[in-house]
Amino acid sequence: MKSLWDDNKTGKYKHNVMQLRVYTSQLLGQEPDLVLHGGGNTSVKVKETNLFGESEELLYVKGSGWNLATIEAAGFAPVKLDVLKRMAELEQLSDTEMVKNQRAAMINPAAPNPSVEAILHAIIPFKYVDHTHADAVVTITNTEKGEEKIRQIYGSRVLIIPYVMPGFVLAKKVYELTRDIDWGRFEAMILLNHGVFTFNNDPKKSYERMIDIVSEAEDYLKKQKAVVVPVRAAARENLLDLARMRQAVSRIKGAALIAKLDAGLKQVSFSNLANVTSIATRGPLTPDHVIRTKPIPVIMGKDLEKDITQYSQSYKKYFERHTDGQLTCLNPAPCWAVWPGYGTVAFSRGLKEAEIISDITAHTIQAIQCGEVLGGWKALPEKDIFNVEYWELEQVKLLKKGSSPVFQGKVALVTGAASGIGRACVKVLQAQGAVVAALDINPEITALFSQKEVLGLTCDVTNREEVRKSVEKTIRCFGGLDILVSNAGMFPSSKNIVEMNADVWNRSLALNLSSHQALLQICIPYLSLGIEPAVVIIASKNVLAPGPGASAYSVAKAGLTQLARIAALELASSGIRVNIIHPDAVFDTGLWTPEVLAKRAKHYGMTEEDYKTKNLLKVAITSKDVAALACAMAGPVFSKTTGAQVPIDGGNDRVI
Ligand code: ZN
Repeated sequence: MKSLWDDNKTGKYKHNVMQLRVYTSQLLGQEPDLVLHGGGNTSVKVKETNLFGESEELLYVKGSGWNLATIEAAGFAPVKLDVLKRMAELEQLSDTEMVKNQRAAMINPAAPNPSVEAILHAIIPFKYVDHTHADAVVTITNTEKGEEKIRQIYGSRVLIIPYVMPGFVLAKKVYELTRDIDWGRFEAMILLNHGVFTFNNDPKKSYERMIDIVSEAEDYLKKQKAVVVPVRAAARENLLDLARMRQAVSRIKGAALIAKLDAGLKQVSFSNLANVTSIATRGPLTPDHVIRTKPIPVIMGKDLEKDITQYSQSYKKYFERHTDGQLTCLNPAPCWAVWPGYGTVAFSRGLKEAEIISDITAHTIQAIQCGEVLGGWKALPEKDIFNVEYWELEQVKLLKKGSSPVFQGKVALVTGAASGIGRACVKVLQAQGAVVAALDINPEITALFSQKEVLGLTCDVTNREEVRKSVEKTIRCFGGLDILVSNAGMFPSSKNIVEMNADVWNRSLALNLSSHQALLQICIPYLSLGIEPAVVIIASKNVLAPGPGASAYSVAKAGLTQLARIAALELASSGIRVNIIHPDAVFDTGLWTPEVLAKRAKHYGMTEEDYKTKNLLKVAITSKDVAALACAMAGPVFSKTTGAQVPIDGGNDRVI
């Protein structure tokens, strides 16, 4: 591991204590082998003059909810140092009381809650304190005779603390062990199965000492040949089984989940290890990961559903083994899976959390394999992991949980998504919690949506092979499919039947009818494995009230409506609902170019303005209105409706 310290960057604020604190915190945060997603914390001790002109010592410590990689000065909580030091002297203190009193000792009520390791930072008598959960060091401690190995590497240069639960108990333990020692003798403090602390009055020295300590551990791993060399295996893929797995885990969760498949070389190689069931189920890399990953993954065998059910049963037994009778059992669904031959899978209600789980598991499988080379991977005893998972501060969060958006964890696919109704549907579905595959023939679709939750895919829906590839890509990224909004369409040039051009006719049928059939056919196997699956077909008012000159369009849309009605009949037994929207005169779509609008208005002998609101209610219908209806149809409002046709046209006497 290399120091990223750059004197050119620090030169301009070399006397600004806080900016230096932010700088080295970010340096630590940038290195995923040191800290992952909210892990680790840093602090700085400063003297400030208060309102009354008195000087007081403060500890600025990382606030919870902030990541070291992106932390700013506002992410540090200023706590009175003497209060923290006195807290270390208390005989007993619950973590809830600790958090409350730390908050009360802050000089800025708007700052975030201080890290639960604040007391520990306070009692280390140096200005700058850095703490990471460095993979290399933790890996070595998570093995048979881990402590011995640490002593062998560092000798008496580091202070070694046996594992204790983070929070007050850990701070107290360190306080007692170090009351009479000279901290200056030590280069670092290593908390077994947890991480490393370094400290110095100079921020650069504290930071670089962290890099040195971790580098020594990395060198040791190299010398012991504890390096993972993944074994390449033949690529395998089973997207239906992935969707089946997602459905089974979502059922136990009682809510839709994303299933993020990681089928990289490292994951597949790990999943193929002969002893994977044994080594993957010994426990997490560090106990704080348990909040996101549970103690162990589910190991998939031949019967996915059975494996997942058994996992949830054994999770409940694990809870029963350790609960004091006062705790609330967490949902027993697994957070990740090892899928032999295929890789690993992360399950989560949102994409961001799934990515966090996937990062953590990537580091965990690496550490497990290194630990095996070092004589055997050995995580903390189950009870210690349980205590972190069921920590009082975590249990309180369960009570505070609000309700989530209606489509949270759901996977949707929308065609014709670069403009008009399709684009509006993508926005509404995403805003309501879904991840969305947005398909369009316009290549700009890949960059149209900035959110990670939207996967823009260039796809000509009249090309069956392209559709199949796009659907498969969606499953590969999100693990399944629940909502299909079949929207792509075009309005061909207006021609009476007698002068209809075969090409215009065929192109309309290909896009407005046949492409929907192919898409539906390709999606049905996945929708059958979806969570409350729903299909919304965007047809047209022309089905119910056709106009002269629009046969190519109206006939295709009438066929599409009939296709949707038959789909509703055929798919009801699989729980898939199919409903139809008949929009009319949605003028902010790609169909309605200014030329088409002018032509149609002229055809009816109207001004463009009158033509836009030529309905009973005299209202203009927008893409957003149609998207709102499509989302209602995909959601619980229409959960007991299938095969319905709903016009959204401002009221049309020919339709009514
Ligand atoms: Zn820690």
